[in-house]
Amino acid sequence: MPNEQSYDENKPLDMHNLQFDLAAERLHLEPWIAEKIKHPRREFLVRFPLRYDDGRIELLHGYRVQHNTLRGPAKGGIRYHPRVDLDEVRALAGWMTWKCAIVDLPFGGAKGGVTCDPSRLSQTELERLTRRFIWEISPIIGPDQDIPAPDVNTNPQVMAWIVDTYSVFKGYTCNSVVTGKPLSIGGSLGRLKATSRGVLYTLQEAARLLHIHFASSTAVIQGFGNVGYHAAELLHEQGIRITAVSDLQGGIYNERGLDPAAVLHHVQKTGRVQDYPESENISNAELLELPCTFLIPAAIEGQITRKNAGRIRAKVIAEGANGPTTPPADRILDGLGIFVIPDVLANAGGVTVSYFEWVQNVQKLFWTETDVNQRLQQVMVRAFHEVYAISLQEKVNLRTAAYMLAIDRVAEAKRVRGIFP
Ligand code: NAD
Repeated sequence: MPNEQSYDENKPLDMHNLQFDLAAERLHLEPWIAEKIKHPRREFLVRFPLRYDDGRIELLHGYRVQHNTLRGPAKGGIRYHPRVDLDEVRALAGWMTWKCAIVDLPFGGAKGGVTCDPSRLSQTELERLTRRFIWEISPIIGPDQDIPAPDVNTNPQVMAWIVDTYSVFKGYTCNSVVTGKPLSIGGSLGRLKATSRGVLYTLQEAARLLHIHFASSTAVIQGFGNVGYHAAELLHEQGIRITAVSDLQGGIYNERGLDPAAVLHHVQKTGRVQDYPESENISNAELLELPCTFLIPAAIEGQITRKNAGRIRAKVIAEGANGPTTPPADRILDGLGIFVIPDVLANAGGVTVSYFEWVQNVQKLFWTETDVNQRLQQVMVRAFHEVYAISLQEKVNLRTAAYMLAIDRVAEAKRVRGIFP
């Protein structure tokens, strides 16, 4: 049994490694395979200058980690955040490997990031930063090698700059190097909302299992970005009352329910969710502890920890964010009987439609939005029930079950591919 005391719950890489160890020990893997697939395959570190609009030049640190490529090209987003460091990117890359394997995509896992504070950058600075970072990592990315996508603080516009920079580097237009692009340059219909739609599909399956009446449920959502906002919108469309939402600066609460589109309008005007009329301002800590049917962390890692897990009053948690719940918190939530749909399953809708986008680009074909959403639903529902069946059979929570499914698939790929030479 892995010793929890030797892992630090505040470190995403320790969280990843403990989650891996808890599942791997049940699979009785060959020790060399376990060691090989737990850690990243390649790590690429770059240091590059950014020229600010006022003429100052600063050196920034960027990372691209390819955690695993046994089942196909590496796949994973690019994050711009002050907290980005090599260990965080390693953890995020590992989570991508397991996520892709859980939904059975022919991809491995990767992640990239630049340590910076995008809230202090102008659009032109953001563009220069993106182009220079992509130029730096261009030797290791490519449609058959490693395909980036959006993550925290990166969006379709950033993906468009990536396509352009990479295409200039190659000498021809290559849009399949990245997913999450604008539609005008080969993006997929349905990609923008795909992660949140995947969260919705897994919540619907959980509600069925737990005999929860979906339309009369309530939801609390942390984070009001791509994942959080669209989750709020999609659940609101299903008749669910969104009683609280938040962003980095704090949250808002209204027991009668919030209209996500109206809150978004307020955010576009004021830059934050707080002070939205007809709501009460609350902190992010208070938001997580509100009674609700569905709690959706959709911001960053390490939000539900051993300190607050005992006070969570949701029936179901669907992890829109990567790594929001630490392993000690998982144990506490299990004890409280809270049904946790882990990140590697709940938010896999994003990478699934990224895969659809890549397939459409490679085939030079376009699918309708209905087609994309139906295929996404099939993938998410199948993965949910595969994970749930393992959890029943092995008497483990859904997170360990999901890791067991993923690790087994990746280990089998290693076994059949063998070692070189
Ligand atoms: P985003 O940048 O669009 O939004 C992030 C939101 O979280 C913002 O509202 C921000 O204010 C808020 N936030 C940041 N720090 C916070 C904090 N400490 N407390 C409360 N709120 C905070 O990012 P996103 O793309 O929506 O990603 C959110 C999470 O979902 C991340 O963990 C990301 O890795 C994960 N994820 C994203 C996708 C995707 O397709 N975008 C796919 C899978 C997983």
